[in-house]
Amino acid sequence: EKAIIELQNINYTYHNSEKKALSDISFKIFPGEWVAIIGHNGSGKSTVAKIMNGLLEANSGTVFINGVKMTYENVYDCRKNVGMVFQNPDNQFVGNTVEDDIAFGLENNGIPREEMLIRIEDALKRVKMTGFETREPARLSGGQKQRVAIAGIIALSPKVIILDESTSMLDPEGRLEVIQTIEELHQTKNMTVISITHDINEASRADKIIMMNQGQVDQIGTPDEIFKIGLELVEKGLDVPFSEKLKYELAQKGINVPTEYMDEERL
Ligand code: ADP
Repeated sequence: EKAIIELQNINYTYHNSEKKALSDISFKIFPGEWVAIIGHNGSGKSTVAKIMNGLLEANSGTVFINGVKMTYENVYDCRKNVGMVFQNPDNQFVGNTVEDDIAFGLENNGIPREEMLIRIEDALKRVKMTGFETREPARLSGGQKQRVAIAGIIALSPKVIILDESTSMLDPEGRLEVIQTIEELHQTKNMTVISITHDINEASRADKIIMMNQGQVDQIGTPDEIFKIGLELVEKGLDVPFSEKLKYELAQKGINVPTEYMDEERL
């Protein structure tokens, strides 16, 4: 099967830094997959996301988007295929209404007016925000804002959507809304989803997890494989999923266990 994104031996160091942010990163992501990228703060997750959508250019190594090598000449075409949603729901809007906001991205991409309206309606439907066309983005809840931000990206019909900690600033309800939206995008199978996250709920629903550590890929596997340490603890008779010990093990992997999952009696 042909990878939709392939990274080969990517190295990256920020201009003002001596330390490598990414060191020999290689992996493949296949069409329709939901891949979660986890790891501690500073492990290189955001940097790798920006390399994948061409916001940053690697010092060495190669990025392939849908089999095409990303170069200086084609970086804008590559970027059209890889949309990004960011962490802060308040920093993502340019329009005064939900509709205008999504239209702005479409206008920039030269989409004709009639098609724009169809795309806006379709995108809002996919994030379950039909009826919010004339609402002011600033007045929406955090979860709604992120869903509008996702709609703005999917209206541009990229092949891949990257969510860079886009649930981390939300309350539990908003987080769940966004995770459900991701799940639905993933189920329709025409979109590849990459979510950078510290949320175990989110990571455990992905098809594949890429675990980063100190600028390197530490492990790639299914959630079951990655969370095996936890499962081994269960097998040893420890009363997990969220014992103090497992919380510690997960914390080692850069995963926060949400408080609603903590059982007071076990702590
Ligand atoms: P993560 O997303 O996993 O938190 P990042 O990709 O943001 O990690 O950071 C990887 C490394 O690059 C860290 O050591 C971080 O300090 C460094 N870094 C990130 N952004 C910059 C920047 N703009 N300038 C210099 N160093 C940076």
